[in-house]
Amino acid sequence: MSRFWSDVVKGLTPYVPGEQPKLANLVKLNTNENPYGPSPRALEAIRAATGESLKLYPDPNAEQLKAAIGKYHGIGAQNVFVGNGSDEVLAHIFLGLLKQSRPILFPDISYSFYPVYCGLYQVDFETIPLANDFSIRLGDYAKPNGGIIFPNPNAPTGCLVPLVEIERLLQSNPDSVVVIDEAYVDFGGESAISLTARYPNLLVVQTLSKSRSLAGLRVGFAVGHVDLIEALERVKNSFNSYPLDRLAIAGAVAAIEDREYFDKTCKAVIATREKLVGDLKALGFEVLPSAANFIFARHPQHDAQESALALRRRSIIVRHFKLPRIEQFLRITVGTDEQCDALVAALKEILGA
Ligand SMILES: *Cc1c(COP(=O)(O)O)cnc(C)c1O
Repeated sequence: MSRFWSDVVKGLTPYVPGEQPKLANLVKLNTNENPYGPSPRALEAIRAATGESLKLYPDPNAEQLKAAIGKYHGIGAQNVFVGNGSDEVLAHIFLGLLKQSRPILFPDISYSFYPVYCGLYQVDFETIPLANDFSIRLGDYAKPNGGIIFPNPNAPTGCLVPLVEIERLLQSNPDSVVVIDEAYVDFGGESAISLTARYPNLLVVQTLSKSRSLAGLRVGFAVGHVDLIEALERVKNSFNSYPLDRLAIAGAVAAIEDREYFDKTCKAVIATREKLVGDLKALGFEVLPSAANFIFARHPQHDAQESALALRRRSIIVRHFKLPRIEQFLRITVGTDEQCDALVAALKEILGA
């Protein structure tokens, strides 16, 4: 604390990102990164964009990327907003669409950045408890609200809400914005982007960080009605006109266009997840049904924090949240088959000891 801080800064509780340790040879299963590298075509496009043209500002509207995303999803480029990671897109959504007189609603167990944005922008919110099986019960959101936001699949549980239930929510909640954060949808969910043409209050957010293995490039986007997109453009152009640099635009366009590599790596992650779930259940873990590139598991006889520390001593890092209801769970990113085998072997030792 310093006397030079503004009152806003004094009141902030910032988000704490998962650790990015500098050690080599770690089995890093703590921040839901993709174990496979980015598309080789994306890397080639980034290399090709590295040159004299970097002296020039990038396209402030990233038209080429909006067109590529529009083509991929069968929607107009005017229905796409892009930002410096979906975290930045979400920040603009909280200020531009969710800051309302009524409180917004999101699950009690969810992406921990949401309450942080509420603190930053002074957005009123109310959390809605997940069901006992950790699923999101959308019926519980049927009350006056300033907006609704949740990840689908949810983080950190991995549980998926079927698209028919989202459509039912949109029909019963026409007067506020519904934001679906689809950071993990490519690993087993069905995108709500198909509903955006029919529901002017639906905004869908996606990222290239997980399924396209570009967490280091920082590209995310939102899809929705032009009026919602315009709100985000107004915030963006009052904050930073050039959120995406030339390299990010080039790499993101090539990654979106390389469907073959994307399909292949998503399938590989899903296959490894299913094997990992089986292996963990065989060790006595209870594993929540996951449609994401991570799993959420607890062992009835072993303390989660102790298991996480024991794994760390074996150079394997997973995520543990010291939060009510989920403090006995481990969130484990799906790595390569080899990484997951190393995790299972280590857990076998730890649980046997
Ligand atoms: C990873 C993640 C994001 C942020 O992704 P970036 O595009 O890397 O900023 C957003 N929402 C959820 C639920 C996530 O897990």
